[in-house]
Amino acid sequence: MPTALRVLNPATEELVATVPAATAADVDAAVTRAAAAQRAWAAAAPADRARLLRRFASAVDAHTEELALLEVTQAGHTLGNARWEAGNVRDLLDYAAGGAERLTGRQIPVSGGLDVTILEPLGVVGVIAPWNFPMPIAAWATAPALAAGNAVLLKPAETTPLTALRLAGIALEAGLPEGLFQVLPGTGPVAGDALVTHPGVAKIVFTGSTRVGKAIMAKCADQVKRVTLELGGKSPNIVFADADLEAAAAAAPMSFLDNSGQDCCARTRILVQRSAYDRFLELLVPAVEEVVVGDPLDERTQMGPLISRAQLDRVRSYVPEGAEAVVGKAPEGPGFWYPPTVLTGVAEDAPCAVEEVFGPVAVLLPFEDEADAIRLANATEYGLSGSLWTRDVGRALRASRAVRAGNLSVNSHSSVRYWTPFGGFGRSGLGRELGPDALTAFTETKNVFISTEG
Ligand code: NAD
Repeated sequence: MPTALRVLNPATEELVATVPAATAADVDAAVTRAAAAQRAWAAAAPADRARLLRRFASAVDAHTEELALLEVTQAGHTLGNARWEAGNVRDLLDYAAGGAERLTGRQIPVSGGLDVTILEPLGVVGVIAPWNFPMPIAAWATAPALAAGNAVLLKPAETTPLTALRLAGIALEAGLPEGLFQVLPGTGPVAGDALVTHPGVAKIVFTGSTRVGKAIMAKCADQVKRVTLELGGKSPNIVFADADLEAAAAAAPMSFLDNSGQDCCARTRILVQRSAYDRFLELLVPAVEEVVVGDPLDERTQMGPLISRAQLDRVRSYVPEGAEAVVGKAPEGPGFWYPPTVLTGVAEDAPCAVEEVFGPVAVLLPFEDEADAIRLANATEYGLSGSLWTRDVGRALRASRAVRAGNLSVNSHSSVRYWTPFGGFGRSGLGRELGPDALTAFTETKNVFISTEG
């Protein structure tokens, strides 16, 4: 296992930084520090926790440009996306801060006494994050976990530790207690596994591939450790013939090309009713060809590079030789570039149509009617997101109920709002993040009955 992580700029392949990789002993020491910090944090008044989290949010806001540039450099995100991502961290911290003050138990009527529920923090929470959205995904768990009175140990992905490390520095500068929020850059099998198996870590929030998520869930079972899993996706974008086809075709490219398709919610299965298929394709071709791919620092750029050579090879492996496709433009290199690609004429069950490619590749498939659309939409083991385009309100509601996915949008491709719940059906995950209930996922409910008789 490497003792240091090499961070490359995916747009240039230049070495950006070398970061020491945490060992199992480092994780153990971090758990001890975190547990000590957590005891004092949990005992603090909720309003004091809220005040510090708001200070953390303001400090993130003040460092938006620095964080965004760091993300562009290590992850190849466009500058616009990276600024949004830093803003998302700020908003989450603000939102969670309010939650700290509003997290309450219940009083339940009983005879012979008083019954109350108490929401207790779990203790030390381990957060294992992927490389595709290093800042927001880390904050989705970290902000509510801290607000509910827990300490957080965050292990960022091997390729993208820099923004996580900077966030931990900003937290300290904002006044968060030492040890409460620590970042442990390292490899999955060493630092990640040490968090998963450590008896002092009460919960794991894992975001990443379904393969690793299943293995982590199995290991957590040993200690009945709490676990939230945010896993892969292969989301449908269903376009009915009665839809505003111009709007649907204009939105389709960025619904799978945002972040170069390295997005768990990417709408990579474009399902179009056969009677509208030709017209939709005619509209889609220029929309794909016009996507601006290139220098992530250029404000006009809509799509940057892939994260790594390994990811580039993976994406290539999914595109059959000589495939029929609509293909956009991309730089040659250096850097890990792949052009926007929509595959046409592929079989419904081809690997590129049912497996997560995690790159700028979608398939375009025709369907006959509503029942056929639902059948196709549900024909994967995933169930994270999806879009429906129609002008028929009844159909929108029927289809929204029938598609098995955690996050659907009608006449839109938005998936993530920090104030609404997010998570997957099936092999896309377990549990929900974000939204009004985010804090309770970081608590244990205790029921106390107090007898009033004698
Ligand atoms: P990955 O599963 O390879 O790695 C994710 C994290 O797990 C990394 O930090 C890695 O170091 C760690 N890890 C790897 N092996 C481990 C082990 N044995 N024990 C503990 N930790 C281990 O995923 P990735 O390639 O970084 O991310 C891409 C995947 O993430 C895609 O499948 C994508 O769909 C998914 N994702 C899901 C969501 C969601 O919210 N559902 C969001 C973003 C990404």
